[in-house]
Amino acid sequence: MTAMVTPGATLGVVGGGQLGRMFVHAAQRMGYVTAVLDPDCDSPAGRVAHYHVQADYLDEQGLTQLTQRCAAVTTEFENVPAAALRFLAAHCYVAPAAENVAVCQDRALEKAHFARCGVPCAPHAVIASDEQVIDSRLLPAILKTARLGYDGKGQVPVESHADLSTAWESLGRAACVLEKRLPLAREISVIVARSAAGQLVHLPVQQNLHRAGILAVTQVPAPDLSAALRRQAVQAAEHIAESFNYVGVLCVEFFVLQDGSLIANEMAPRPHNSGHYSIDACDLSQFDLQVRALTGAALVMPRQHSAALMLNLLGDLWLARGQQATEPPWGRLLALPGMHLHLYGKLEPRMGRKMGHLTVTGPDTTTAFATAQKAAALLGIAAF
Ligand code: ADP
Ligand code: MG
Repeated sequence: MTAMVTPGATLGVVGGGQLGRMFVHAAQRMGYVTAVLDPDCDSPAGRVAHYHVQADYLDEQGLTQLTQRCAAVTTEFENVPAAALRFLAAHCYVAPAAENVAVCQDRALEKAHFARCGVPCAPHAVIASDEQVIDSRLLPAILKTARLGYDGKGQVPVESHADLSTAWESLGRAACVLEKRLPLAREISVIVARSAAGQLVHLPVQQNLHRAGILAVTQVPAPDLSAALRRQAVQAAEHIAESFNYVGVLCVEFFVLQDGSLIANEMAPRPHNSGHYSIDACDLSQFDLQVRALTGAALVMPRQHSAALMLNLLGDLWLARGQQATEPPWGRLLALPGMHLHLYGKLEPRMGRKMGHLTVTGPDTTTAFATAQKAAALLGIAAF
């Protein structure tokens, strides 16, 4: 792609979830027309896009319709079949490329890519048969399905050799990665964007708190993270993107271990839940970067103008007050300073389902942190 795809053109996104919805919002604000491909008749992104192509991700008719409308297409989740992106790429500009997404879809390929880049990841073994003999040094471990896992789904703890076959059975004997359980001091992530011309920019390093395998709180800047570790994480993420010629927004999740070392956990070929704060706390959000990378516009380094914490709003908040789903107390919440409420338009709250998020901004880290704790208490989110 040489010329920039200019505002007025149509941009497409495969997948109709909340990430697609926020991409659509960013693209529309810049004057692009938007189209979403999703099989669901009532998806968060489908409801706000100009066009909704309601079709399965591998439906050639649906995919053709999308390419006929769009100058360029991106994806909002990593489990879109690589074949769908390859099909689209034969007819219009697609970023990130199918081959890149395919690497991010598979934990084994992903770890091999980290290793190629010289970025350490957790000691692991690929599990594909019953007879597999595993190294005792991997125990205790976590067995993770190689594909389709998210929010801690598709993961089972393995304490001993004897546990492994039951654990593998419980995951449907799918291809898995057995990963050594590591002593985490904290979790951080880095979002980078790379253009077709090779420009690279990044958001500030985010610190993430997971509860039951689901992201609960993101804090930026990451409190007391040394400049050396920050630099190391950014350089690793940039190198990971550059070395497979990636175009688009890429998020790399890292563990910081108790001995201070940095380990790459996984990566996502798209904007990431831990980057949502950038909409309200940065002059360019991760979705702005996604639009720019896709259209060939210049990538400019985002500047964080407010300290921020992001709290995920899970369906639990609607269901905690009794059997009947009840709305959280938005009115009282919005009376606090620096509240940016994002709801994704999902009608049915379910436990663990991401219904929205709240970004709390403040003039400094301490103020933002204190306000975020107040907001959490109001909503019934455990203190952090
Ligand atoms: P998902 O695709 O569900 O996000 P992850 O591999 O990121 O899967 O795992 C979810 C969470 O589980 C991580 O953010 C971390 O808190 C914990 N976790 C995953 N792998 C390990 C590990 N090897 N050691 C310790 N904790 C882990
Ligand atoms: Mg993860």
